[in-house]
Amino acid sequence: MIDLHLHTTASDGLSTPAGLVQRAREVGILTLSVTDHDTMDAVPAVAAAAAAHGLTFVPGIEITSVHDGHDVHMLGYLLDAHAPDLVKLLSDVRSKRVERAFEIGRRLSAAGAPLDVDAMLGGPEAESTRSIARPMLARALVAVGHVASVAEAFDRFLSEGGPAYVPHRGPTPFEAISVILNAGGIASLAHPATLARDDLVPALCEAGLVAIEAYHSAHDSETQAHYVSLARAHGLEITGGSDFHGDGTRRAEFFGVVGLPALDFDRLMKRANRVTRPRI
Ligand code: AMP
Ligand code: MN
Ligand code: MN
Ligand code: MN
Repeated sequence: MIDLHLHTTASDGLSTPAGLVQRAREVGILTLSVTDHDTMDAVPAVAAAAAAHGLTFVPGIEITSVHDGHDVHMLGYLLDAHAPDLVKLLSDVRSKRVERAFEIGRRLSAAGAPLDVDAMLGGPEAESTRSIARPMLARALVAVGHVASVAEAFDRFLSEGGPAYVPHRGPTPFEAISVILNAGGIASLAHPATLARDDLVPALCEAGLVAIEAYHSAHDSETQAHYVSLARAHGLEITGGSDFHGDGTRRAEFFGVVGLPALDFDRLMKRANRVTRPRI
């Protein structure tokens, strides 16, 4: 099994880097990437744990970009975590995430579900390389008893249109692709069915997109087939993964079940060798 979409505690996942690799091994994953939101903090630890278990590891990220007021999640693979443009973009995005968490906190108070966001972020830790995302606020709402589940926290407060929803401010998807390319990586459009903007694909291709994520836990077989043929029609490669955020989280049952076929992985790696700059 090949899974190129996984999260750790560096963003909104529940597994530590070493714990994720251990769990991946248990469910039969032999090749994995870690794709935390707006941080590559877990990459060295996941790489080390993967090497210790004899697994193949692909460094990755999931960048939160914004287009027409909607989030566009852009996956990046094989990129250099230390590329200056990337480091700057990610640290900007993460500080905006901290400001947004406080704004969400104010809106939650106004909606009658107060949270101590300051305590939750752990003071100076808020400025760290950890990426603060809504599932953390959702879990905190469960912990203090305002809601019974993460799903209820999203449904009642945090989802787009909800009383505590605060949009992201971030790069455009075109900027995200360009930063990934400049860091020597390749970009893939994450869970395109969730985005539901197939009309954007030609412009994203122009900007240097090389793949779309046809295989994902949120895609049924018809959706998957649609994105495989959309990829082919645009000369794009295919990526795939479970988007696992930890045991007991949404769609965790697809971990070890949804992944990328080996042939598509080989094509992706060949394509990466063509488009990425030589590494020193
Ligand atoms: P953020 O990056 O702060 O906007 O948070 C987005 C993350 O929230 C996604 O990557 C998912 O992990 C999670 N998420 C989004 N919608 C839901 C939902 N309805 N239930 C559970 N988790 C969700
Ligand atoms: Mn997430
Ligand atoms: Mn995503
Ligand atoms: Mn994800």
